[in-house]
Amino acid sequence: MNRFLKNIALALLFLCLTMTGSASAYALDVIQVRFGLHNEKTRMVLDLSDVSDFRVFALSDPYRMVIDLPGFNWKAGSVVKPPQTGISDVRQGPLQPGISRIVFDMKNAVSVKSAFLLPAQNEKSNRLVIDFTSASPQEFAADKGKIFGTLRVSDDTAPGQETTLAGSPANDLLGIDSPPIPPRKSFGKKPLIIIDPGHGGIDPGAPGPSNLREKDVVLALGLELKKQLLATGRYRVMMTRDKDEFIRLADRVKFARNNSGDLFVSIHADSVHKANIRGASVYTLSQKASDAQTAKLAEKENKADLIAGIDLSTEDEQVANILYDFAMTDTMNQSKFFANTLVDRMKSGGVSTLDNTHRYAGFAVLKAPDIPSILIESGFMSNASEARMLNQTNYRSKMASSIRSGIDAYFEHVRLTQNN
Ligand code: ZN
Repeated sequence: MNRFLKNIALALLFLCLTMTGSASAYALDVIQVRFGLHNEKTRMVLDLSDVSDFRVFALSDPYRMVIDLPGFNWKAGSVVKPPQTGISDVRQGPLQPGISRIVFDMKNAVSVKSAFLLPAQNEKSNRLVIDFTSASPQEFAADKGKIFGTLRVSDDTAPGQETTLAGSPANDLLGIDSPPIPPRKSFGKKPLIIIDPGHGGIDPGAPGPSNLREKDVVLALGLELKKQLLATGRYRVMMTRDKDEFIRLADRVKFARNNSGDLFVSIHADSVHKANIRGASVYTLSQKASDAQTAKLAEKENKADLIAGIDLSTEDEQVANILYDFAMTDTMNQSKFFANTLVDRMKSGGVSTLDNTHRYAGFAVLKAPDIPSILIESGFMSNASEARMLNQTNYRSKMASSIRSGIDAYFEHVRLTQNN
């Protein structure tokens, strides 16, 4: 088929996909990936249906080369990769709304020398051209952080963002194959809610008046929430802890993932120097905290493991991956949607809330890449009257019931989205 006919065929296919309302139809097609082998470099050419912004960079541990493009349809089939290219595998898929990613797993370090776009000309289609060479680890280190192209990606995952998935071994956590709605892992079963009462054991959390401690207050609230959720008959519930014991942050996330949780709800109670500050707030994950106070809060909560004398740098690799890696995918959007729903229900349920009730911060327990996760600061231990309220059965019951109502609304949304 000559290129003209092929283009028409592709245009028709695109039209069909658009008309049937398929969500997989993007404006851009990646038509083919091919290689030119030279002595001094390897040239990779991506034939594209259109001129396009792009971004190319290399990662280590293990070595990978990454191409980000606006959302694309993969028409390139399985890529033929000559052994000399050093490529062991090619993966691709949506990274976040509007952005898709191609990952080339490399056998050795590579150095990207140049990347540029050539618009269609004569017989040739639009092409993204990338020249790369193999590199020594030293050469790789020298090139670290180099990014070719100008594609803007929010919640950046490129090198230089050290807390993100850049340079991480967790290929399977790149989130590149996530569908728009997180798959219901408990398909055919009731959704599984993971309740995560913060702190515990040797980590008391924030202190309150009259020897009240965050770890006790949040456990009681977690147990009340569990009771209310089970009473609806609509959910299964598991708790990361249901007694006064210390659990590492990473193990909380691991627990949720190992059990294929559908929703992760971490419960805390904050503390600040200003004793008059009070009200509940809901947090979702972000690398950038909403404000300085929020950043400080995340830092404090993330120190739970240090309190127990655990040095994360000695953690096994898998745990480290889970902690430091998260996919910037639809899970984040699901979490945000859930958080906003929850805030509504809290406000209408008579729970006192902070201004800007939904906030963002880098809490370690929210980093499961595939489970919508939120952290509730149910109130302030540092506010004597709120701490006492949190210690009362009736206020806890009111708080738990607004959380339960938020969870109901969230799963109603999931049900509706998946049924059409
Ligand atoms: Zn806490």
